[in-house]
Amino acid sequence: MYLKKMKIVGFKSFADKTKIEFDQGITAVVGPNGSGKSNIVEALRWVLGEQSAKALRGGKMPDVIFAGTEKRRALNYAEVMAYFDNSDQYLQGQDEQEEVVVTRRLYRNGDSEFLLNGRKCRLRDIHDLFTDTGLGRDSLSIISQGRIESVFNSKPEERRAIFEEAAGVLKYKNRRNETQSK
Ligand code: ATP
Ligand code: MG
Repeated sequence: MYLKKMKIVGFKSFADKTKIEFDQGITAVVGPNGSGKSNIVEALRWVLGEQSAKALRGGKMPDVIFAGTEKRRALNYAEVMAYFDNSDQYLQGQDEQEEVVVTRRLYRNGDSEFLLNGRKCRLRDIHDLFTDTGLGRDSLSIISQGRIESVFNSKPEERRAIFEEAAGVLKYKNRRNETQSK
């Protein structure tokens, strides 16, 4: 399984519909400061179900929608599509799909939706699909700028949470808390 393509429109600095294709192996994205490199990574994090606006360097979720520039009006929605090559059937429960496409949309009025292979689904379905694949929302496969520093500077309890996440304990803790709060 690997990420082979992303389509981004209206997400952060991507006002124009942008298609990015990835090969297997390592991809490096280079460009001047502020050109949108981190925004690509955040688009991926977002489409995989990130629910924290702060983790995406925003105050509230609609902050991810293109906010306009002097020359260009703001947009009303953001959409990110991630295309995964699943010819090795790594993502399970996909009816032997060769390709798995995850879509997330958010409108300024707060409406939002997730789609899996073009069909509406719940955030939970996206989580379930990627849990334990190493690519889920809470996985450490995406490490954002500043995170390394924050690991060193964090309090011991916070650092512990990071280790628990890496060890896969956090999932069970979350589930236990969920059960206890019912
Ligand atoms: P660096 O090399 O400094 O890490 P970068 O290439 O990672 O830079 P990003 O942080 O991805 O750059 O992009 C920042 C740019 O995205 C800024 O110019 C910022 O104005 C723009 N941006 C962020 N959110 C929005 C938004 N909602 N609407 C329009 N532009 C946005
Ligand atoms: Mg950056």
